[in-house]
Amino acid sequence: MEPVVPLPLDLSTLDSLTQSAKDYAVLNGLTYLTGGQNDTSDLVSFAPFALLPSPVPRALFDQARAVQKDFNLLVHRVSHDRAFLSRCLSSVVKVDNFTASLFHIYEQVQEEGVTQPICLGLHRSDYLLDTTTNNDGVGTNGVTACRQLQLKQTEINTIAAAGAGFGEKIARVHKHVLNLLGVADAYKHIPENRAMDSQLDGFVAAWEQYGSQKAIIVFVHVVEEERCRNVFGQRLLEFTVMERQPGLVVKRYSLRQIAEDAELKSDKTLFIHGSEVAVVYFRAGYSPANYPTEKEWSARLKIERSRAIKCPCISYHLAGTKKVQQELAQPGVLERFLEDPKAVSRVRATFAGQHTLEMGLEGDRTVQMVMRSPEDYVMKPQREGGGNNIYGEDIRTVLNELKDFEERTAYIVMDLICPAVVQNYFIRPGDWPQLQDSSCELGIYGVFMAEGDQVFHNKQGGHYLRTNGSSGGDGGVYVGNAVLDSPYLV
Ligand code: ADP
Ligand code: MG
Repeated sequence: MEPVVPLPLDLSTLDSLTQSAKDYAVLNGLTYLTGGQNDTSDLVSFAPFALLPSPVPRALFDQARAVQKDFNLLVHRVSHDRAFLSRCLSSVVKVDNFTASLFHIYEQVQEEGVTQPICLGLHRSDYLLDTTTNNDGVGTNGVTACRQLQLKQTEINTIAAAGAGFGEKIARVHKHVLNLLGVADAYKHIPENRAMDSQLDGFVAAWEQYGSQKAIIVFVHVVEEERCRNVFGQRLLEFTVMERQPGLVVKRYSLRQIAEDAELKSDKTLFIHGSEVAVVYFRAGYSPANYPTEKEWSARLKIERSRAIKCPCISYHLAGTKKVQQELAQPGVLERFLEDPKAVSRVRATFAGQHTLEMGLEGDRTVQMVMRSPEDYVMKPQREGGGNNIYGEDIRTVLNELKDFEERTAYIVMDLICPAVVQNYFIRPGDWPQLQDSSCELGIYGVFMAEGDQVFHNKQGGHYLRTNGSSGGDGGVYVGNAVLDSPYLV
């Protein structure tokens, strides 16, 4: 694909544009913490971003938005099918302690009876613009000829889906940059992004549904706050909820604080420091590192057993695991959850091939297939947050070790998506602008609230674009590989 303007830019243009874009980013609050060292944790800079917005075909952008409500409903239905969730995860929980601990909480709460049937989902479905798939859907990885791009989902995030606060801000930076470059009609190509507003709507709706004026919303954050570079993205949501709904208070606590200070009353109402909790929003809790001791697990259980509305509840969290997504991609499975055949086709059209590593014939076939050409696949464990996937020759190494053991079932295999490549400048604090081949990943937010079959709120809620150097590897903006971006619709 072609960049928005011919590249490279001449040096003096690049220099003044970069300076201007950085200043505009800081002025707009596109900020994050630099470093990761304790003694520099109070230093603030701009979040890394792409100097130019990245071209995204309008048709694919519309397709991704159009399927989001189907995904919201799918997550909800899957999460309420105990037999399905249990079957999907039965092998994983034997070999993956983290998923097993989550599942244990799920089972315990199912046995006791769920005290809060209302679920709030703030999801983000992520897509790459794939260059490698034939019309019949058969992967032909390795073919580099430019074909029509297709939208292919990498995953759906049902917990701690970040980035909503910064979408509109990076779009403004990009409009400013394009203005300076004299690109006509730039505004028409950069779509409005109501991601943050949509999430605020979700929080307020859940809080109202809970029905207690004095009750607060709790944001759960990591203990080592200084290591969370994205603190401002979270704070922005937190402060804006309070602005939006005067009288509604949002407080931040770590799982450790909740373990120590929160109390579950006999009617399962959750209280912390004297305040009743209406909604608990997890911005931590998706990674084993968030549970350094049993205390954090006891906090997760306490929250799950409570009357507070969880975002996400444990069953939404489990419905978002890679294993469940792999099972949903098998023939005939979506039909079990979505009665509308058009919804099934919309969802299925975004799926790349996914393959089981369960013990048995089918899993053995996956092993053989992947060992023959590991460069065509990604191996994924049940983890979130980037940097956990295995690619190429490393897959062979890992499978050589695990292929005959149950430990292989901790992973799933997915066809490698080869995203379209376009040049862009990566702007990072303390670094010169780097012109790189890059590929972008489009995230679409979903906001959903329901009680059983009664859906109160089902919305597509804005977007999030981040761009990676195409040199491989993965990871979000805050893991360090990717930069914030916005789509330039073509
Ligand atoms: P995580 O939960 O760690 O974010 P993802 O499934 O989103 O896991 O994978 C992390 C990153 O790996 C994605 O952002 C994307 O860049 C890359 N990735 C994931 N799946 C694929 C795939 N099938 N083909 C190519 N790259 C992928
Ligand atoms: Mg991801």
